[in-house]
Amino acid sequence: MGKELSALASYFRPQVDSFLADCEAAGLPVTIEDTDRDQATQAADIAAGRSWTTHSKHLPQPPEMKSEALDCVPTALLSVKQWGWYGTIETSDPRWLQMGEISEKNGMEWGGRWPNNAPHSRSDPGHMQYKPPDNSETVQEVSAEG
Ligand SMILES: [Zn+2]
Repeated sequence: MGKELSALASYFRPQVDSFLADCEAAGLPVTIEDTDRDQATQAADIAAGRSWTTHSKHLPQPPEMKSEALDCVPTALLSVKQWGWYGTIETSDPRWLQMGEISEKNGMEWGGRWPNNAPHSRSDPGHMQYKPPDNSETVQEVSAEG
């Protein structure tokens, strides 16, 4: 598991850089929690209930075998109980939605919109991932992440 932006795929990195700059400009600095993950860490996370998929975009993705996902927390929420996330967008601190909308504006898929539909998917507000230009066929694949 790592937090280095250099672990991100080259075609995803410009979106991430723009996202981070937009967050700063919006007065919403974010803290990066996770970029890449290896298979062993992912297996341990599943066993511990921290993740629930073997298809995580944090794992090495072809063709570069680098991460296509990023986990962030609005820095101001790090000291808040449960980081201000209480299960749904509507009941949680509005800064999560603000961060999610900035990620979407930069072309990413935001995990905060994933439905709580265990074991298939779970809302994951800190998670953002690369969205291929035409992903209509892969919606099922990417809707479950951890
Ligand atoms: Zn994630």
